[in-house]
Amino acid sequence: MLLLLLSAGTVARGESGGVGAPPLKAEAAASPAAARSRADDPLPGDGLQRVVWEGEEMAAPLRIVCYHASAEHATAACRQAASRIRELNAVFSDYQEDSEVRRLCETAGRRLAVPVSPDLWELLSLSLEISRQSGGAFDVTLGPLIRLWRRARTLRELPPAWRFEEARRAVGFDKLRLDADGRTVELTAPGMRLDFGAIAKGYAVDAALQVLRENGVPRALVDLGGDIGLGDPPPGREGWIVAVAPPEPDRPPSLFTCLRNCGTATSGDRYRFVIIEGVRYSHILDPKTGLGITTPREVMVIAPTGAAADAWATAISVLGPEAGLPLIDALADTAALILQSEDGKTAVYRSRRWPALAGESRVPAAEATP
Ligand code: ADP
Ligand code: MG
Repeated sequence: MLLLLLSAGTVARGESGGVGAPPLKAEAAASPAAARSRADDPLPGDGLQRVVWEGEEMAAPLRIVCYHASAEHATAACRQAASRIRELNAVFSDYQEDSEVRRLCETAGRRLAVPVSPDLWELLSLSLEISRQSGGAFDVTLGPLIRLWRRARTLRELPPAWRFEEARRAVGFDKLRLDADGRTVELTAPGMRLDFGAIAKGYAVDAALQVLRENGVPRALVDLGGDIGLGDPPPGREGWIVAVAPPEPDRPPSLFTCLRNCGTATSGDRYRFVIIEGVRYSHILDPKTGLGITTPREVMVIAPTGAAADAWATAISVLGPEAGLPLIDALADTAALILQSEDGKTAVYRSRRWPALAGESRVPAAEATP
């Protein structure tokens, strides 16, 4: 709420994307944004209006903060950005029966190379690249296991072994065939299901920022349920202040980053986990075991795009600091912070570029409330 309290800008409430648009991830609605965005007051005399747009898209809270000479123009641009996200949901949603990706999955195992839309092509190509780079820790073909796992979370019991085996036969990014010439995609095994839950929101914030920029509103921040895209900074500022989510959900954040022209995302299991026979499993799966990861950790990634930040935050949640941070260090303009419970204490791990990219600061607790 600090966004609204800090300065008297225009606040527009977007039309809800929920009506007639089934969520990409139903569970996301229940989980508050992990990293909260915080905008600063514009410096006086710059002539720019601050506009805040709030809505719900992809079953997650959407908040856009931007600056422009005309509040009316900026509000119209925000409306367009929100409708672009809705358009992407109709392509990527696993919940929407007639989404492009659901229709693609119906062709699995039928030896069909299917032409796909530019957005689906781009998202799949990027997903495949990050699957390879992460050694399979991030994998959008996990769909069959994720469905099993969702059921296990509801029933609070592990699925029977035979169902696991069945699902695993339909999982693996090596079963995805992309042909760049015709921009076609073939799902080579029967029963394959694509799940973009770990990357779609990041891709969507990039697309929304692009709409804003094309409309002459480059000073903007787009926060979709904790996946955040940052454009040019607020007037007179170095960057946008984004909080690092504290490991304890009820505590205010005390660490802040200062970011511009990049994406950031947080993954963790603070809100979405299940305890089965005394073991706490996350909603993030380790593709090696097919089970939810069991080490509680919060991961924040800064990357050139929201999509990359989103996917890598999930990958690093699976890999942990030892295996994960060297991979992050090998990527340009990318950094990660991991908070992990160890012996009742919170251990903090930072990748090599974190200090340079994050512009980290500690802010007095009174100012730190998101
Ligand atoms: P959040 O939804 O909390 O932002 P993530 O971005 O990490 O979290 O996405 C988690 C979602 O991604 C899961 O709900 C599931 O749909 C999917 N998923 C889970 N594990 C993986 C994985 N290892 N690779 C790719 N997608 C995953
Ligand atoms: Mg993610």
